Amino acid sequence: EVKLQNAKKSQDVQNVVVEKLVEIYEAAGNHETTAINMAETGPTVILFVGVNGVGKTTTIGKMANRYHQAGKKVLLAAAATFATEQLDVWAKRADVDIVTGKPQSDPAAVVFDAVQKAKQDDYDILFVDTAGRLQNKVNLMNELEKMKRIITREIPSAPHEVLLVLDATTGQNALTQAKLFKESTAVTGIVLTKLDGTARGGIVLAIRNELHVPVKFIGLGEQISDLRPFDPNEFVYGLFKGLIDVKALDNK
Ligand code: GDP
Repeated sequence: EVKLQNAKKSQDVQNVVVEKLVEIYEAAGNHETTAINMAETGPTVILFVGVNGVGKTTTIGKMANRYHQAGKKVLLAAAATFATEQLDVWAKRADVDIVTGKPQSDPAAVVFDAVQKAKQDDYDILFVDTAGRLQNKVNLMNELEKMKRIITREIPSAPHEVLLVLDATTGQNALTQAKLFKESTAVTGIVLTKLDGTARGGIVLAIRNELHVPVKFIGLGEQISDLRPFDPNEFVYGLFKGLIDVKALDNK
């Protein structure tokens, strides 16, 4: 491509590389978008999956805040029943409602209660936090499938998204997790967290190429507003930060 475009200056070469990477990223998708799939009528249900510590609870808090600010009626379900306190803190921060079960209660029961409430009280969006224990693939699959069955029984078009949360700082390990979750359940999108540190998240390109799952949001810190919709152009430029002069690109 560099030869084709007759790029000679290092700046031009770098631009070609970035353009090409964005092209590759987009070609690896199947016409999917980075937008969240919303229900046509009734509550939109979004399931969050991912291993402990990746930033699942934090992401749900940020998303809840984002949609609440946009005027949506938001409900959280604490289906990771051994650790509901943190989600509760985020519900208060985002000023949204939450359904929790008793400690150690069946996550599926919490999901059932939350879906009922979402329907009865006309919520726009229900975010479901799931447990991140990864004992083995069979358990994980069973637990997720059970939750999904209950959700679909109550709202046939749901869940509208299954978002896998991945920690950008874990590199290759994030790819392994993505593979495991994708084999266990139909993941519809990725949220890549902790991109505010030194991690540049190049692993996204590998995940996209191997699994064809789009990144929908990125996490850029621990604060409630540190969440952005994913923009492939901006992201790839970010990967090359320091290598290319972004100002020069802007002025092109
Ligand atoms: P969970 O176990 O997947 O629910 O993870 P948590 O939401 O509890 O987050 C684990 C840790 O990662 C916490 O200390 C969060 O503050 C931190 N964290 C989450 N998202 C981000 C992010 O985008 N950037 C940074 N720097 N830290 C994050």
